[in-house]
Amino acid sequence: MATSYSCVPESLEVFAKPALVVGHPGHELKVFGWISEYKPRVYVLTDGSGRQGVSRLLSTTRLLAPLGIEKENAFGLISDIGLYRAILAQDIPWFLTAVDCLTESFIENGVDFVVADAMEGFNPAHDICRTLVDAAVVAVSQETSRTIANYKFCLTEWERVRQEHHDSGCSHFVLADETLRRKLNAAEEYAELQDEVCKAIDLRGREYFRIECLKKVIQPFQEYDYAGKPDYETWGEQRVAEGAYESTIRYEEHMFPIIDAIRNNATGSKACSAGRATHASHVQAGRSGRRALRNSE
Ligand SMILES: [Zn+2]
Ligand SMILES: [Zn+2]
Repeated sequence: MATSYSCVPESLEVFAKPALVVGHPGHELKVFGWISEYKPRVYVLTDGSGRQGVSRLLSTTRLLAPLGIEKENAFGLISDIGLYRAILAQDIPWFLTAVDCLTESFIENGVDFVVADAMEGFNPAHDICRTLVDAAVVAVSQETSRTIANYKFCLTEWERVRQEHHDSGCSHFVLADETLRRKLNAAEEYAELQDEVCKAIDLRGREYFRIECLKKVIQPFQEYDYAGKPDYETWGEQRVAEGAYESTIRYEEHMFPIIDAIRNNATGSKACSAGRATHASHVQAGRSGRRALRNSE
């Protein structure tokens, strides 16, 4: 074993078919030690092209290949601009199709353990990724009576003022020296994330990235617990003021109706969550067969 666990809520050794689902290519670096050892199927929501329009999928493919990890069919389902447009346009069918895509693959491949982005209110793609995975886990249990252990990991806690919360639901994966060295090398070689990687190491030091925290999702579809506006809304407003963006993705107006529709579709619930009664349930249609996934650009 190149690594060891501390704070273990359940033995992860019992899971034979792990999966990693991330909002953007590059997130896999944060759990490099875990993927190196457990070789999950890897799904990526967007191509990470951002506003520059240059995909990061090739960099992630290059990172995964030496680890013996093959990329999944759902690998860059949409461009970042496409995802933003789908959110602003409230293209609910696209999101439900993405849930179907994950569900189908989880069932076909017998996935029994999934690790995916946490909902942090930092980037809409991360929060959408979390919601899609929660829905797919529910769908798999409904369609097969099989339970998938659902875990999340934080991507942005290292640069935030507040401390990351750790409790008995965490699995802490402690990397051996050699694994930590390979992880940091991989991060430094990931060309499109150079600035972020340098910033993270400068701020926290290399040792900080030795522990990888996988948190068990106790309650799927738990809303992001933020005080005030989520970060993406504040930054969006700044970008609009600078003339860089045409519009801002807002939680109440754009994100919540999509999250609510995905949740309602997965759980069959027609009730709006408490405190969000102003938002009608947008989609009540059941999962009527598999929809064709299209890029909404
Ligand atoms: Zn990201
Ligand atoms: Zn933890």
